[in-house]
Amino acid sequence: MFGRVVKVSGPLVVAEGIPNARMMDVVRVGKLRLVGEIIELVGDRAYIQVYEETAGIGPGDPVESSNEPLSVTLGPGIISSIYDGIQRPLDLFWKTSGAFLERGLDLPPLDMERRWHFVPKVKDGDRVTTGDILGEVEETPLVVHRIMVPYGVEGVVEGIREGDFRVTDVVAHVGGKGVTMATKWPVRKRRPFAKKLPVKHPLTTGQRIIDSLFTLAKGGTAAIPGPFGSGKTVVQHQLAKWADVDIVIFVGCGERGNEMTDILMEFPHLRDPKSGRPLMERTVLIANTSNMPIAAREASVYTGAAIAEYFRDMGYSVALMADSTSRWAEALREMSGRLEEMPGEEGFPAYLGSRLAEFYERAGRGICLGQDGREGSLTIIGSVSPPGGDFSEPVVQNTLRLVKVFWGLDYKLAHQRHFPAINWLISYSLYLESLDEAFAKDVDPDWRRVRGVILKVLQEESELEEIVRLVGEDALSGRERLTLFIARIIREDFLYQSAFDEVDQFSTLLKQFKMMRLIVNVYEEALEALQRGVALDRITGLEAFSKVARIRFVPNDEVGVIDEIERELVVSISALR
Ligand code: ADP
Repeated sequence: MFGRVVKVSGPLVVAEGIPNARMMDVVRVGKLRLVGEIIELVGDRAYIQVYEETAGIGPGDPVESSNEPLSVTLGPGIISSIYDGIQRPLDLFWKTSGAFLERGLDLPPLDMERRWHFVPKVKDGDRVTTGDILGEVEETPLVVHRIMVPYGVEGVVEGIREGDFRVTDVVAHVGGKGVTMATKWPVRKRRPFAKKLPVKHPLTTGQRIIDSLFTLAKGGTAAIPGPFGSGKTVVQHQLAKWADVDIVIFVGCGERGNEMTDILMEFPHLRDPKSGRPLMERTVLIANTSNMPIAAREASVYTGAAIAEYFRDMGYSVALMADSTSRWAEALREMSGRLEEMPGEEGFPAYLGSRLAEFYERAGRGICLGQDGREGSLTIIGSVSPPGGDFSEPVVQNTLRLVKVFWGLDYKLAHQRHFPAINWLISYSLYLESLDEAFAKDVDPDWRRVRGVILKVLQEESELEEIVRLVGEDALSGRERLTLFIARIIREDFLYQSAFDEVDQFSTLLKQFKMMRLIVNVYEEALEALQRGVALDRITGLEAFSKVARIRFVPNDEVGVIDEIERELVVSISALR
């Protein structure tokens, strides 16, 4: 009952005569039973993308179909795991052998022996439908794993009870079917919402330039380019730590082996700032290690997306971070080349854009399946790393068409040691309007106006700098020089944010608002003073300005101090005659 290999070209294996071969089904190739996926079928000929090194495979070797699509196994034990691109547990393997995965190895994604304490949330006789929560397991101190009625199952609950179960034990019967805590889901298929909702809540990160100026929404999408040395790693860590989401899924498609090793070494040491516990207790890492062929990267983002959607369906807000999608796209390009498809721009396949869209479309906010109407969201943040930092190349261009937020990390700013090195002139968020209501309600009705002035001053600064370069600062009016003075305050005392200072590293939205309002109100008071004929030097020379440098370090629960500094400055300026 086997097909036979006819040709091997790197990660692409061509086979014939596989019984019941279907597109996208997982097959096992050769005596080592390497894992692959059928990505094209022409008559009896199957083109197989193999996720492991194909050395030693040759014509005549057996190929067997599993008759199942590439799937993830979902259930307690996922959180804290480190998986490869097809959900094989790397951490488990390292613990047992201390080396990389052997080829063809079958390791269950979840610990099959471990017992989890299951606490029912429904009782015998209750009628439940797909997505309803049957019970809960405390998976880690930071995550309650909600056991949902699997897709396609509904009916009356029988035999449900509290106890310690393995993931494959039946914890209840629903409509006569035994339900286990572990379920499977095909990675390339979106898990459905009961109802999709428009995004309207900010996903706050405590990072001022992100929250205040280029806000991300819960359920939204963002892209971040990462030229080497631009501070990308620090931004990623800050996001993973501080983003107000329940669960973080990080997919790493490293360029070189050691890049991935960095992530594998660093993430486990990060701490969740709210609880002080290891961040891994609400994180899943998916790592494409250097010993796997780059084809495996192709699957990894879907593996990550399926796991992320699963936790979203429990009613959590989840962030999926993929680093870097450029490396992922290169895997597409390689396979496309081996399939001898017609190449598009720069050798990428013509379907690059639609594949990227399929990935980012998995973001969203909605009502989860189930009768309780709980809400979940999945936010996707993808990094791009174009060769030579060239933003005109196809992966960046296609990504920018899809995502709604762009944080333009800039090597030049990093070089000037301005952190986070996000260039405010090229960054954007298309969510600002959808989020205004939430900001007005939860922070302050004045939010929108204040942010608008801040952005305008920064914009004007860049135009004025151009003039200064051409004709010198003397050509500027007092008003223009005031703009430059205020812009410097915005950059140095608001946008600059140290990731390593206990207080500065995280600002609440209220603190961010008060900082911006101080700057804007002082700016407007100074404009009035200029109109009264007060010389600019007398304004900027005011002693009270020295206190502005302190506002970054005002603790989040003492923001009244910022108001006091604002008042003092405004009063001093208004007294000038
Ligand atoms: P990349 O990953 O792009 O190579 P990193 O994130 O490792 O760059 O950042 C390079 C260096 O820049 C860090 O070691 C750190 O010293 C500095 N840096 C980056 N972001 C910040 C920040 N927010 N605050 C202070 N220093 C930073």
